[in-house]
Amino acid sequence: MVFELTKEQLMIQKMAREFARKDLALYAADRDRTHEFPAESLKKMGELGFMGMLVPEKYDGGNFGAVAYSLALTEIAYACASTSVVMSVHNSICCGSMEKFGNESQKEEFLKPMASGKMIGAFALTEPEAGSDPQAMTCKAIKDGDHYIINGTKRFISTGKNSGVVILLARTQEKGSKGISAFLITHDLPGFEVGRIEDKMGQCASDTTDLLFNDCRVPAERLLGREGEGFAIAMSGLDDGRIGIASMSLGIAMAALDESVKYSKQRKQFGRNISEFQGMRWMIADMAMEVEAARLMTLNAAAVKESGKKCTKEASMAKCYASEVANRVTAQAVQIHGGYGYIKEYPVERFYRDARITTIYEGTNQIQRVIIANEVLKDKKKSR
Ligand SMILES: Cc1cc2nc3c(=O)[nH]c(=O)nc-3n(C[C@H](O)[C@H](O)[C@H](O)COP(=O)(O)OP(=O)(O)OC[C@H]3O[C@@H](n4cnc5c(N)ncnc54)[C@H](O)[C@@H]3O)c2cc1C
Repeated sequence: MVFELTKEQLMIQKMAREFARKDLALYAADRDRTHEFPAESLKKMGELGFMGMLVPEKYDGGNFGAVAYSLALTEIAYACASTSVVMSVHNSICCGSMEKFGNESQKEEFLKPMASGKMIGAFALTEPEAGSDPQAMTCKAIKDGDHYIINGTKRFISTGKNSGVVILLARTQEKGSKGISAFLITHDLPGFEVGRIEDKMGQCASDTTDLLFNDCRVPAERLLGREGEGFAIAMSGLDDGRIGIASMSLGIAMAALDESVKYSKQRKQFGRNISEFQGMRWMIADMAMEVEAARLMTLNAAAVKESGKKCTKEASMAKCYASEVANRVTAQAVQIHGGYGYIKEYPVERFYRDARITTIYEGTNQIQRVIIANEVLKDKKKSR
């Protein structure tokens, strides 16, 4: 199969590459050190159309399709993984869920400013005692007239502090996946506050926070979709989100490979460039092969989504594979740089740390394998 990109997809890829390498790349190392949220860059990304890539024009989005979105996100991650996680959660999960499940007035109030990057979205599913098993969540939303009263704690929420709107999953019934509902939460609601901000290994310019709900009164019109539809909203958002994480992983791996090629052609030992040693050449060949395979799986998942078909299996496969490639390739990049790879002055040190989370969030790779196995076994039954 040959992947022929359209003129428009190539143009978006080029635009994202130029922006990322001129703007994001300049600040990525500093922001990693200072943990400064990339607000200014995200504003520019909104103006360039990167914050509403899958949103229809009617709601001020670009409607560029999942393939163009994946290409752009890969370029952003190549330069700054922290910025790419904000872009991924915002576009894939938040705008996507709002577009599929929101009513017209919610789309006017939230989706339009989100699509232009004026309001950034976050997605709050995980809790202290409910990670891989989201049905164990205990955050409650009890109906009280024309409001819901929300109590509970959400953990590890990307852009928890710097978001304008949070899609919150909470229990409207004691048990079961049908007892979970989704709500649109803004920071002005009484009883809602941002809790501790995590000090992380990587992707340090993106904030990861607790969200605390203490008798938080949420107007009933902030319910996203129907009551009890929250779990379905979350699972559908995560299918799309995993294409985002695959694209991010690919971008980090590509950057690590490029830095390794460059370094190996400059560094001399035993009177020769280290790129002339077979041990180095084979490592670079393996890295390039894995990056290429990750690229094809990621683009395939995006193309399946763009065709309108269910992409659960392809998205999980791409996320699982590309994130493991990102971890292997960044580790090899550090090795190729020798001692310098361990020093912050060289970008591969950051790539190695930034890649580590990709096998964990939006479903650990153990959970991806559970999903893939379920889908494959379902397919086999159908084909008999
Ligand atoms: C930086 C960062 C950003 C994040 N952003 C968000 C966000 O924006 N929104 C959000 O809702 N969440 C977010 N998360 C949470 C993330 O999705 C969870 O951490 C992840 O799903 C794993 O949950 P857990 O940490 O509770 O681990 P656990 O579920 O406790 O898992 C611990 C280990 O057990 C394994 N395990 C669990 N169940 C099984 C099983 N059935 N079979 C095999 N192995 C299993 C896991 O794979 C893992 O290795 C973020 C996390 C981090 C660190």
